[in-house]
Amino acid sequence: MFSRILRFHRTIGFRLNLWYALIFTASACLLFFIFYLLLSAGLAHKDREIIEARLKEYAAIYENGGLLTLNRWVNSSQERQKSFYVRVVNAWNIDVLLIMPEEWKIAVDPTRLRIGRYEFQTGWLQIPKDDEQDLVIASTVLSDGSVLQVGRSTDNRETLLEPFRHIFVGVMVPVILLGGIGGALFAHRAMKPVRQIVATARSIIDTGNLSSRVPVRSSGDELAELARLFNRMLDKNQALIDRMRESLDNVAHDLRTPMTRMRGIAEVALQGPPGPESGREALADCVEESDRVLTMLNTLMDVAEAEAGVMKLYRQSVDIGSLLTDTVDLYEYIAEEKSITISTSDVGQCLLEVDPARIRRVLANLLDNAIKYTPEGGHISISTKRSDENLEIRFQDTGFGIAPEEQERIWDRLYRGDKSRSQRGLGLGLSLVRAIVQAHQGTVAVQSQPHQGSTFSVFLPVTTNAKPVAVPVELVN
Ligand code: ADP
Repeated sequence: MFSRILRFHRTIGFRLNLWYALIFTASACLLFFIFYLLLSAGLAHKDREIIEARLKEYAAIYENGGLLTLNRWVNSSQERQKSFYVRVVNAWNIDVLLIMPEEWKIAVDPTRLRIGRYEFQTGWLQIPKDDEQDLVIASTVLSDGSVLQVGRSTDNRETLLEPFRHIFVGVMVPVILLGGIGGALFAHRAMKPVRQIVATARSIIDTGNLSSRVPVRSSGDELAELARLFNRMLDKNQALIDRMRESLDNVAHDLRTPMTRMRGIAEVALQGPPGPESGREALADCVEESDRVLTMLNTLMDVAEAEAGVMKLYRQSVDIGSLLTDTVDLYEYIAEEKSITISTSDVGQCLLEVDPARIRRVLANLLDNAIKYTPEGGHISISTKRSDENLEIRFQDTGFGIAPEEQERIWDRLYRGDKSRSQRGLGLGLSLVRAIVQAHQGTVAVQSQPHQGSTFSVFLPVTTNAKPVAVPVELVN
């Protein structure tokens, strides 16, 4: 139980909730504070305006009617003035008029108000009255040299501001609660996609069912993007696993045929009459079959090696033209069986520093594919084009073609096109082609139109000062 609480404290949801509640409460406090400051500044300004108006009124009365008129005026309107402090100090610094509200007399030490006239001839003076209130006094010099002061306490401001402060305390409790609840809702909503990803990952781990996917929201935010990417990763993994399963089935299937044949040959040899001649024949057949198995296993290992980036090349100076001619010779019979014609144009002598065995596999695989994926009566044209930088070897067929969305994927290990299922193959040929060409610092490319045909191009960098060597022909695919 305790550990669960501890774990909850460490969750992003809890931290989001806390941050939300804190920011919400702090913002509410700040708003309240700014409003309070504006209100009190507004009230202070209003106070000063009233005092200033009163100061001007009394100064005018004094200037027109003298001290007596002012005294009469102030006393006659006592009810109206009772919250005001009025004082006239003559040129000899003697108070000639002093009217002070009752509460001032109690609360304020009068000596503090009896400040020498020269200290505040004009302008404003603010004297603290108690913890909450101040006395605000304005002064002006009259024509006879007397100083007139009019003041007022800020208690009327307080009558407005005090309930405001009480409201603040009362409002803050629900605000904090609201922040907490809002934060919990916000964190719950924000973390929903993460919880869905966790649930999906857990379900895949627990059940091994790779088809589970995270529901993707249409919001388009980072978490929706994460969910989309997570699903794409799962799609890719599932496709890879499916392809591996399929290829494992293919490998098992393709291995079974030569193994069964080998067993049959050995069985027949054992049951037949003993003799060195029949024994030798059976052994020769077994060697042929086991070579086929070895070729397949070597292909798998080569692709794995190439993908791990550790492919070793035994470079020699080779004439690519004669390699091509040998390859075409090797496949001519299979092409004839399908009534496919092969033409080679511009294939002259071209010396390159390459690993001949590997490059022969590249050429054989591309020609083999062209024959496999071209219907009967089709045509394959092979050409080369040399530039200063590289040699392009091009295989152009009039076959089924490849859909645009498939063209990226055909180079993937174990990928087989949907239409290719009926043909023999492991889905390793093109990945091996690309790996070998890349190991030679070359590139491969495909251009294809469904139902019109495909063109596969191999670009190999040109090396100079190469001398031709004879390369033995061998069947590779
Ligand atoms: P495999 O031929 O064993 O299926 P590859 O790696 O050689 O495997 O080729 C991968 C896929 O690319 C094939 O399954 C096929 O769909 C497509 N492909 C390759 N070459 C051609 C071609 N010349 N014409 C049409 N499709 C091709």
